[in-house]
Amino acid sequence: MNASNPFEGYRVSSPYGPRTNPFDHNLVEFHKGIDLVKAHRSPIFTFVSGEVLHAKLGDAGSGLGGYGIAVAVRDKNNHLHIYAHLDSTTVKAGQQVTVGQEIGKQGTTGQSTGSHLHYEVRQACTPNFGYGTHVDPTNYLISYINREEKMMLEELQSRMNKLESRLTKLEAQASMPVPDWARNAVDKAVQTGVLLEPDRASFDLYRVLTVLNRKGLL
Ligand SMILES: [Zn+2]
Repeated sequence: MNASNPFEGYRVSSPYGPRTNPFDHNLVEFHKGIDLVKAHRSPIFTFVSGEVLHAKLGDAGSGLGGYGIAVAVRDKNNHLHIYAHLDSTTVKAGQQVTVGQEIGKQGTTGQSTGSHLHYEVRQACTPNFGYGTHVDPTNYLISYINREEKMMLEELQSRMNKLESRLTKLEAQASMPVPDWARNAVDKAVQTGVLLEPDRASFDLYRVLTVLNRKGLL
């Protein structure tokens, strides 16, 4: 997902905001979403992850009347993303979808003047699927993506910090000074056949000897 243009691959045929009604040019209305166009029956992919709350023809008075075959996805901020006028849908209510997953095909069902995707974001999911709580979908999506990227970077940074502190510890262990007597004892043990040649890159043996010595067992 591209934060500078979340609608990459689409042509914007009608932006969010006031406009003349496409069915009655004497009427000024507020366009509650953004109209996006690809080829008719192109696959439509989700802009965010979430739970599908609705995936069928919207009933009149339900908050999705006139939206045709619509898919409504609730994101983790409890905002509702509506993909309307679909030709068909490939998901079911109750299903979880991840960002970039196909939810249906572009169409012209419901109150539509031609094949396009009406994409709408609502701040609430109830009642009536949050009808009337629409926000600018472009602004919402851009800040959502930026937040996701920031969280991902912070997660990566924290993992890197953990790795770095482990590495520092390992380096400190590797550079632990080996006392001469321990080195000599190992040399002697190998020479006399008491001990098979140990892995001298590993300091484990020296560490064991040092501990035994400290405890007075050597
Ligand atoms: Zn529209």
